[in-house]
Amino acid sequence: MRRTSSRLADGRELIYFDEDSTSATTQRVGIVDHRDLRPSRSSPEIRYDAMLDEWVTIASHRQDRTHLPTSGDCPLCPSQGGRQTEIPAESYDVVVFENRFPSLTAHGELPPGHPSRADRRAAQGRCEVMSFTSDHDTPMSRLSPARVRLILDAWIDRSAALAELPYVEQVFCFENRGEAIGVTLATVMLVRSGSRSIARRRSRSTTIVP
Ligand SMILES: [Zn+2]
Repeated sequence: MRRTSSRLADGRELIYFDEDSTSATTQRVGIVDHRDLRPSRSSPEIRYDAMLDEWVTIASHRQDRTHLPTSGDCPLCPSQGGRQTEIPAESYDVVVFENRFPSLTAHGELPPGHPSRADRRAAQGRCEVMSFTSDHDTPMSRLSPARVRLILDAWIDRSAALAELPYVEQVFCFENRGEAIGVTLATVMLVRSGSRSIARRRSRSTTIVP
C-alpha cells in the first residue's frame, strides 16, 4: 500500500491509498488542486433537546452543501478533461478527504452571538469522506479482494489517526448509498468522529439537523 497525504485548494486534507506501492502511475506527489476554492466557514453546534432527551447536531451551513449532483457535477469522480472535482488525480484507488460541509469541526467555536451553555456546545470532531474506487458507483461486493484489503487498511489508518485527536472519543465508519436514504452522494464511506455522549444517544435516535 502507498499512502500519500496532500491538501486541497482550501486547505482540507486529502489522502490517497493505492494498492500498488511501486508503480509510477500511483505517484501522487505533485498533483495540485487548481480550483479557486475558499475555505468554507462552518460552526456547527450540538444542542440538548430536553423533550427527546438527546443531543442533536445543528449544522446550518449544510443547507448549502452539494445535493444530488448530476453526473457532470459529481465531486467524487477523478479530475479529467479539464473538469476539477474534489479529487485532483486523474484516477485513484481509495481516497479519503475532509468533508467540505462537516457537521463536526476541529475548532470547537460556537457562531458569534451563541454563547456556550450547558445545553449548547460547539460540535467538535472531524468528518471525512472515503471513496472506494474512482468508478465509485461500483458496489463493494464487486471490488477485487485486493481493493477490499486496501479499504480495510484505509479504515484502520483513519480510525487510528482520528482516535489520536484530543477532542475525539469515538470513531464511526458508515456507508451512505443511494438516493432512497436521502444522501447527497452514492457510494461514500464517511468516517465521523465525535463525543461518546453523542454517539450513545444517536444509537437511540438518528436525529440530525438538517
Ligand atoms: Zn462521480
